[in-house]
Amino acid sequence: QFEERLQKVIAHSGVASRRKAETMITEGRVKVNGKVVTELGTKVTNQDKVQVDEVPLTKEEPVHYLLYKPRGVISSVSDDKNRTVVTDLIPAIQERVYPVGRLDYDTSGLLLLTNDGELTQLLMHPSYEIEKVYVAKVKGIPTKTELNRFTRGVKSDGEKLQAISARIISADHEKGTSIVEVILHEGKNRQVRRMFEATGYDVQKLKRERYGFLDLKGLKSGAYRELTPHEVKQLR
Ligand code: URA
Repeated sequence: QFEERLQKVIAHSGVASRRKAETMITEGRVKVNGKVVTELGTKVTNQDKVQVDEVPLTKEEPVHYLLYKPRGVISSVSDDKNRTVVTDLIPAIQERVYPVGRLDYDTSGLLLLTNDGELTQLLMHPSYEIEKVYVAKVKGIPTKTELNRFTRGVKSDGEKLQAISARIISADHEKGTSIVEVILHEGKNRQVRRMFEATGYDVQKLKRERYGFLDLKGLKSGAYRELTPHEVKQLR
């Protein structure tokens, strides 16, 4: 049973943006279980009946997309500096979808987009432990010992960052660079980059190649596809 903030629930239902939903709440246009609610932080579950202007929220059909995010795109639905956001890449999608977690501006790779808030919360929950596979181009060539530290845990800004595995895929001794695969269950902020930084290496490129059983096969950078019903079932 997931609780969500009222304005988020309204926004996810496609009625209005989050900002607009907040206004609707403070204007007294929103009822929860028949009572007007004007408190912005109010939490509701899917058992609560939410109405806007007396009209019950109807849930949009859940849709799920897999996007190959290019570098230089924000994992968000809007940006105050007007930079390209992931939803700019899917203009044909009518539903109000949101990214499941985020990839850094400079990171490319697999990003799920959905209007299914419940699934998003499920997938983002630490206990769900989805394998996320990253491939990093690194300045320098980490040693086995250094990469072993990734699986034991690396301290960064007082936080312990841990990988499931980390291994060299290839090394260019002339250029002094390497390609390293890092697999995570966690998804802490800038986790892969911070793990390398804490070990004394600079990440020049980072790509997420896999999310659980989903990969980027058949997709070009910037392209997307709908998940099949079977894939959606497998994710849950
Ligand atoms: N780790 C990072 O450093 N960046 C990402 O975008 C994802 C994981």
